[in-house]
Amino acid sequence: MENICKACLASTKVTDGDIQLAIDKLSRLKGMKFVEDSLYLSRLEKCDVCAYLEYGTTCLQCGCIVQIRAKLPDSTCPYPKDRKW
Ligand code: SF4
Repeated sequence: MENICKACLASTKVTDGDIQLAIDKLSRLKGMKFVEDSLYLSRLEKCDVCAYLEYGTTCLQCGCIVQIRAKLPDSTCPYPKDRKW
């Protein structure tokens, strides 16, 4: 798929370390809960084969980092009409 992101360039890629840092910060928020690892991995498997995933991290539908979005219990996939998870 052509890069349709209007705001982010390849140079704005986030690293695994950036993502882990964000997850660590979220985990310290009061009341924050994450989904079980099995559900997390299942969600990421669907993102990995999705045409809207850019740079291996960014969902072009919502602009989120999928490795973070998939951790959140109330989060859903924004795929148009037929969400993937
Ligand atoms: S549309 Fe859904 S499956 Fe595709 S990258 Fe975004 S969150 Fe993942």
